[in-house]
Amino acid sequence: MALSPVGSVDSPALRPSRAEAEAAVEVLLRWAGEDPSRPALADTPARVARAYEEWFAGYSDTPARILAAAQEPAPKDAEMVFLSNIHFDSHCEHHIAPVRGRVHLAYWPDQVVVGISKPVRAIECLARRMIQQESFTASIAAAMMEAVKPKGVAVFVSAEHLCMTTRGAAQPGTVTVTTSLTGCFKTDPALAQRFLDLCRLS
Ligand SMILES: [Zn+2]
Repeated sequence: MALSPVGSVDSPALRPSRAEAEAAVEVLLRWAGEDPSRPALADTPARVARAYEEWFAGYSDTPARILAAAQEPAPKDAEMVFLSNIHFDSHCEHHIAPVRGRVHLAYWPDQVVVGISKPVRAIECLARRMIQQESFTASIAAAMMEAVKPKGVAVFVSAEHLCMTTRGAAQPGTVTVTTSLTGCFKTDPALAQRFLDLCRLS
């Protein structure tokens, strides 16, 4: 059986076959109390495997590759670039339950600026993996710092975790907020405040 490596560059894993993935879904159906031979469920394992390919497409790309494209020299005296309300859909790494939220991202260019769609696509790449919100937030900042080398990056993430709002603590509407500040946003409290003020207005 041919095994191809998948996973983030940081944690490659060996990929099972599609038939193995579908068999695993069948086990979960039985675990939930279903009868996988019920006609309405006949195609469910295949559908779930295909859905996983979309939800977790981010393992086959990297933010570094996305952010390396569409870079241009920064204009003289370039100031903060602020991208607000970037919607994302993801899944938590603890329960594989949906996480839905939005990101506000700012960076202060140094040598280059990057096309504004690229940070959005980099965030989408990271979101299409299994995440933990704090490290997701830090990963966005780290990816920008590494690929664009700005003077600083600020990231604000607010999200609803369905593992918390539909089970467990079962608190509908609870929103988790995380931030990550690097470079000038970390060293300059007035700039950090300016970023947070923009987040509040967005
Ligand atoms: Zn969870």
